[in-house]
Formats: sequence, C-alpha cells, structure tokens
Amino acid sequence: MKKVIEIQHLSKSFGTHEVLKDIDFSVNKGEVVCVIGSSGSGKSTLLRCINLLETPSGGQIIYQGENILDNKHNINSYRTKLGMVFQSFNLFNNFDVLTNCLVGQTKVLKRSKGEAEKVAMKYLKVVGMDRYVNAKPRQLSGGQKQRVAIARALSMEPDVMLFDEPTSALDPEMVGEVLKVMKELAETGLTMLIVTHEMEFAREVSDRVVFMDKGVIVEEGSPEQIFNNPQNERTKAFLKRTL
Ligand code: ADP
Ligand code: MG
Repeated sequence: MKKVIEIQHLSKSFGTHEVLKDIDFSVNKGEVVCVIGSSGSGKSTLLRCINLLETPSGGQIIYQGENILDNKHNINSYRTKLGMVFQSFNLFNNFDVLTNCLVGQTKVLKRSKGEAEKVAMKYLKVVGMDRYVNAKPRQLSGGQKQRVAIARALSMEPDVMLFDEPTSALDPEMVGEVLKVMKELAETGLTMLIVTHEMEFAREVSDRVVFMDKGVIVEEGSPEQIFNNPQNERTKAFLKRTL
C-alpha cells in the first residue's frame, strides 16, 4: 500500500514536557484513520506536527520519499498538500462563503479566479453549502460553518485531509450533518486522518483506529480489533470510560 505520509520517531516537547514520544505512524493512500484518546494525550500536537503548525523536536516526516524536516525542503509546497479542518472552523469572517473557498486557491496555488470558482463550487456542492455562496460566516450555524471549512480545505485538492475534533465545538444537533459529510467523503476514497471523540463514527468509517495515551501510540488496529477486542489495559480503560 502506498504511504501518503510516514512518521518516524517523532517527538515533541514543550519545555521539559515531552508531549509526543517516539511516534511511528503512517497513513496510506485512500485510508481513513481515526485517532482516539483522552484529552491531553497529544492528538492535536500530532496533527499540528504533521502539518508543521508545530516544529517537531525530533524524528522524521516522510512525504513522497523525502524527509520534509530536512532544512532544504520546501515546507510551503508540502503544506498545500495537507487540508486541515479545526475544531473552531477558522473561517475568514470578513469574507463570504465563496471567497473563503477561493483565497487559498488563487493566492497559494495561483489558480485563476474562474478556475478557482469552479473548484470551490464543486466542493461546496459536495458539502451541501452551494446555496450559501454569498453568506458571511456569522450568518451560518456552526454545522454550516464547519461544512464550509471542509469545502475550503477540499478546494485545495490536498493529498490528505486532517481533521482535529471537527464536531467538538458544535451544538449536539449539528454534529450529525458534519459527520454525514465526512462519512460521504470517506466513501469517495479520500485519504483522511481524523482526531475524534465520536466513537460510533470512528467505528463506522475507519479503516484503522489509533489509540493514543500520554504521548505514545498505545494500540492500533481495525475498528473491530480496537473496539471489540482491545489488547492493552489502557485502551480497555479508555473505552470503558467513553463507550
Ligand atoms: P489532545 O489534543 O490529545 O487533547 P494536545 O496535543 O492538545 O492533546 O496536548 C497534549 C499536551 O501538550 C497537553 O498536556 C498540553 O497541555 C500540552 N501542550 C499542547 N500545546 C502546547 C503548547 N503550545 N505549549 C505548551 N504545552 C502544550
Ligand atoms: Mg486536541
């Protein structure tokens, strides 16, 4: 299987606090991987290291056969290959929905406005927000904002989509619409790495589930393995608390 991203011996410390410890991990093309674990276990830091919002303290991130932490590597071009969806949407509040989906395309990918609009409309349709092109973020519900954020990330046509608890900031009645869109994306063969507390969702959509605790990957496997037959005591204890 082709690896889109491979992480070797990744570590990250904040001061003396070692938040990620010797993480080895990869995401294959077309794979949907869910990362689960208690708050504070390092899940967000792992995603933020992968897209270089944080600088890893050690280890390697291999993308297309090269360690992108090498000094000479072009980090900006790597970043455009990763779509990121945050808990808090991070839309540009002064821009309407369509413009939110255009800026990265025209500024970073240098697409023409016409082409960018075509691509944006395609993905706004995918998330069911094509009727809101002229709306400003403040006019939208949380679920709608998150769907726009997903369309904006997809508009860059990344190799992998990273989601950091995309439904955690939503009112309960809006969680479903976002998970539904993500499930549909998973079914199209998009490569996705998702940090989530939605265990039912993780069970349904994942090809692989990764359980993290205190900065290490404790256990990973198919959803059946992790949810029905966890091997590690820490995984068992976590699932007992959450399921
Ligand atoms: P999770 O996403 O699993 O809840 P995080 O990756 O956010 O966990 O955090 C893991 C640990 O790293 C926590 O103890 C957190 O306080 C610490 N941490 C995260 N970001 C920073 C930072 N910028 N500075 C210092 N400590 C941080
Ligand atoms: Mg987090």
